[in-house]
Amino acid sequence: RHDRTTRHHIALIPGDGIGAEVLPPARQVLDAVGARHGIGFSYASYDWSCERYLREGAMMPDDGLDQLRDKDAILLGAVGYPGVPDHVSLWGLLIPIRRGFRQYVNLRPIRVFEGVESPLRAAAAGDVDFVVVRENVEGEYSEIGGRLNRGNPEEMAVQEAVFTRAGVTRVLDFAFELAARRGGTLTSATKSNGIVHTMPFWDELVAERAAAHPRVSWDQEHIDALAAKFVLDPARFDVVVASNLFGDILSDLAAAVAGSIGIAPAANLNPERAFPSMFEPVHGSAPDIAGRGIANPLGAIWSAAMMLDHLGHPEAAKDVTDAIAALLAKTDVRTADLGGGATTAEFTGTLLELL
Ligand code: ATP
Ligand code: MG
Repeated sequence: RHDRTTRHHIALIPGDGIGAEVLPPARQVLDAVGARHGIGFSYASYDWSCERYLREGAMMPDDGLDQLRDKDAILLGAVGYPGVPDHVSLWGLLIPIRRGFRQYVNLRPIRVFEGVESPLRAAAAGDVDFVVVRENVEGEYSEIGGRLNRGNPEEMAVQEAVFTRAGVTRVLDFAFELAARRGGTLTSATKSNGIVHTMPFWDELVAERAAAHPRVSWDQEHIDALAAKFVLDPARFDVVVASNLFGDILSDLAAAVAGSIGIAPAANLNPERAFPSMFEPVHGSAPDIAGRGIANPLGAIWSAAMMLDHLGHPEAAKDVTDAIAALLAKTDVRTADLGGGATTAEFTGTLLELL
């Protein structure tokens, strides 16, 4: 126990659907582990969501970013509502926060836990425990481009991908440093055989940054082959670094084949800590099960553990991930997505006992 309590001010954005059901468990876990490690949390909640958009015409207020700026971190549930197109929640909330707060790293750990059914278990000749580092603010997801010749036979759409030396270098450096702290190997996702301008540039910068991190061994794989290896030989990976689009696809693929999308966490990081970072489960608002109290809270809880790590409390974070591993390996309490009949509250209760 510590005599002095470290305090953190956390912004909570539950969002829509099961977002509001998985954030309270994450908060219970934070308070429990915090009490043991001398970490105190205060919270400010925001109702920013697709439901707010339907009511008031915007996901968040005009001064939304200013309201978050002084927080130590942001914990987000999920946004999405039937009838509201995905681009509304993406461009109305997630992308402004990621870009406004320079959260240029999207970090997604993948583990196949003992006690979880996964198609990867049969393929994996070893522990599946790796991290996808996704470039989070530039690349293929740009607003540059447009539509020409609408409605006539020569109609076309053009979308520009923007890769900057500074933007690629900073995410590569983050990935190489992470690889140096973990298993010491890095895999870069590329497609320089088909994408002939941006991807060769990406590859050159990888080679350049590799020279600056000589203790990390690295290789590169074309995105198509890499996707297949994620399924066929996932244990070989340690840190995988990818552009915005490739990282988006790879990390969803990995989260799904690891057993349940209900477990997977994500961190949107501003590594310089000049702005708050944002932590969110990979899953969406799951309207099909919302309101029934059966959502798996582990994705939100693991995201809260990543937040603890980012805030400088790696031991507290490890307590949480150890409790998740113990819950899955040593009990048969399971939510429906993992083949059981436990409620969110029962699952959280068992986890808190293990903690
Ligand atoms: P969105 O548009 O918000 O991303 P979605 O329907 O595309 O929503 P998810 O919300 O991730 O994607 O849901 C995909 C499937 O996974 C749904 O059947 C949902 O019920 C299930 N699912 C997602 N998260 C969880 C969870 N935490 N616990 C249990 N099941 C979940
Ligand atoms: Mg979705």
